[in-house]
Order: sequence, then structure tokens, then C-alpha cells
Amino acid sequence: MNLYKLIILLLIGMTLTSCNSNESNRLDPECSICKKSTAKIEIVSPNKDPKEIEYWSKEMIESYRKYRDFNSFYFIYSGPGGSNGLGDEIDIERKERLEKIFSKPYNLKAIKKEFYDAAGCCKKCDKFYCKKHWFISSIGVGTCPVDHKQSLDPHW
Ligand SMILES: [Zn+2]
Ligand SMILES: [Zn+2]
Repeated sequence: MNLYKLIILLLIGMTLTSCNSNESNRLDPECSICKKSTAKIEIVSPNKDPKEIEYWSKEMIESYRKYRDFNSFYFIYSGPGGSNGLGDEIDIERKERLEKIFSKPYNLKAIKKEFYDAAGCCKKCDKFYCKKHWFISSIGVGTCPVDHKQSLDPHW
């Protein structure tokens, strides 16, 4: 992506702050039953803050600013099985891989490989379900609406 295109995208992003589902770096698969987002996936460019930051507490922001390597891309994930908290640094290869697998049409196979909770995707139905439509047991085993079971416990 060249710089000019990036600036245009940023300007579009700024004018469309109320509509965040179609922005390039915000990738939210939806529940096949209620259409709510099943996982929040945000890739933040170097020297940028995540959009989520406006909902963070002062302590969270302080620790984010303290530990974040602003030279790197940054990845924030929250799915039915858990989240990576304030996020993780990722390299350009992982960024590109993530963007590819979370762009429509979704690459379900790659999503399942990348995330322990498959971003809410049932491995047997090949459909996404939100936290409400997964029944998640105390040990992290999820049951989808048609009774498939899979572990949603985050181990990554
Ligand atoms: Zn749902
Ligand atoms: Zn299922």
C-alpha cells in the first residue's frame, strides 16, 4: 500500500467512525444466528493506538503505553474463549496472514488453525457463533447450537 492510499484510507476511517464493521483493519466475524460479532480482531499500525482505547481505563492505557513497542504492528483479539488482554506485538507476516484469513470470504480452515477458540467458528458446522450462542462450560468446552462440542479455552 502506498502512502497516498494509506492517507485516503485514514481520512475515510475518520469520517466513518460510527460505522466500524467494514474498515480494513477491523475484522469482526458475525454470529450466524443473531448477527452479533463473535470475536473482536483489530490490527493496529505502528505508532497508532487501537480504536478500543477510548473504552479502556486509565491504568490500562498507562500500561499499554509503557509496554507497547510502537515500531511494530499490534494485534488485539477477543473471542468467545478469551482475549489477549491489551494486545500483542505481531510481525508483518502474521499481520498479513491475519488480514487474509479474516477478510471475506473467511478462510475458516486458517482461522481454526490460528486460534484455539477459532474466533467462535464451530469446526463441524463451519459457522460462527457468538459467546451467547455457544454454551461454554466451566472448563472451557463450548457446545454449539446444534450440539457440537469443541474446546474454546485460550491456550495461546
Ligand atoms: Zn449469537
Ligand atoms: Zn456446530
